[in-house]
Amino acid sequence: MENITVKFGGSSLADAAQFRKVADIIHAHPLRKFVVVSAPGKRHSGDIKVTDLLYRARECAGTEEFPAVMAEIKARFDGIAAELGICVELGLDEIAADIQKGASRDYCASRGEYLNAKLMAAYLDRPFVDAAEHIFFRADGSFDAQATHESLRAALAELPGAVIPGFYGSMPDGSIRTFSRGGSDITGALVARAAGSICYENWTDVSGILATDPRIVPKAQPIERITYRELRELAYMGASVLHEDAIFPVRTAGIPIRIRNTNAPEDPGTVILRDASAVEAPAVTGIAGKKDFSIIHIEKDQMNETAGFVHRVVEPICRRGISIEHMPTGIDSLSVVVPSAQLRDCRTELLCDIRDAVSPDLILVENDLAMIAVVGRGMVRRKGIAAKLFSALAKADINIRMIDQGSGELNIIVGVDSVDYERAIRALYGAFFA
Ligand code: ASP
Repeated sequence: MENITVKFGGSSLADAAQFRKVADIIHAHPLRKFVVVSAPGKRHSGDIKVTDLLYRARECAGTEEFPAVMAEIKARFDGIAAELGICVELGLDEIAADIQKGASRDYCASRGEYLNAKLMAAYLDRPFVDAAEHIFFRADGSFDAQATHESLRAALAELPGAVIPGFYGSMPDGSIRTFSRGGSDITGALVARAAGSICYENWTDVSGILATDPRIVPKAQPIERITYRELRELAYMGASVLHEDAIFPVRTAGIPIRIRNTNAPEDPGTVILRDASAVEAPAVTGIAGKKDFSIIHIEKDQMNETAGFVHRVVEPICRRGISIEHMPTGIDSLSVVVPSAQLRDCRTELLCDIRDAVSPDLILVENDLAMIAVVGRGMVRRKGIAAKLFSALAKADINIRMIDQGSGELNIIVGVDSVDYERAIRALYGAFFA
């Protein structure tokens, strides 16, 4: 039976008015059968998410503060139920008693999704399916994808639709375990795969994935289509909309993800696809970046003729668990780009080890480097992209300290001084999108 899985984030479910919007969205399309919900999020900027209130409740169990925190949590759910005229026994007193008795941190946090799904199931008049019965973790805490898929698939196949709480599952002993923060996205992806959905709609408070950071370019436009690989490149460089682990279950099944805005349902949002080759791709899909990198710069005459040189440089870096982000090389020089934070405490010993290993003519570290990735599947075999990129930076009077192009021709990465970072992003956005 064709269906769509819809997942609504915390801001989409923060109060009764948001619940109404969500119900309108669900009813607007007959295939929106499986609904995954987060806990109520912030209603305004100073507000506290219910998940954070639950963590707080656990921390202050047994203290004078506890009744007030629990009352706040109860008020959030009772307020929604009362305003929507939903009659459902939520069992908040039992949950409060469990927390007082020392319930686990994961159990406490999961109750936000549990209660919200109960409310939503009653409001939509759809069955409630508890994630604890179908999403499984192994005894060592790792997620059991196979057992989860089989159980969810069997359960959902029986149902014309359902509401499922996001964020948690259970351990072999039945206790609750949560994914990391933002993990309802993962639940949505698991449900979409198990239900064989034609699409996984992830409803949030932005109209899709933006082409660059809106804190730097306030009018950044949403990306219409992006591939999973492009998204990974952008996410790695700091762009975030979706929990990273949410991509895997739907990617393997070839289910597209659509990011949409609960507060602007008419906006098309962004579609994430495995293969977007059928449509003409723009040259650049998105621009993202990160600050706080360092370059270890090494020079040695005849370096390219010395067997094992690179290996001997890399070995002491890897041994210390430092991740190598890039490694541009010249004939007699080699640069290794690493996150500054990972270098900070071991810089002196590391440089000594590299000196001992390869006796360089010169070794020095430069800090305050920012990396910017210009990502686009449309770059492949298209001429002039690099020229446009470099002239945009030159026009903005920005010095490029490093250049790297991935072999898949999916991105061009440039390193600039941290102080130039925001200006560089604006210049590149202006060149490719404005
Ligand atoms: N409520 C959880 C959190 O705040 C999970 C989620 O919203 O996805 O992280």
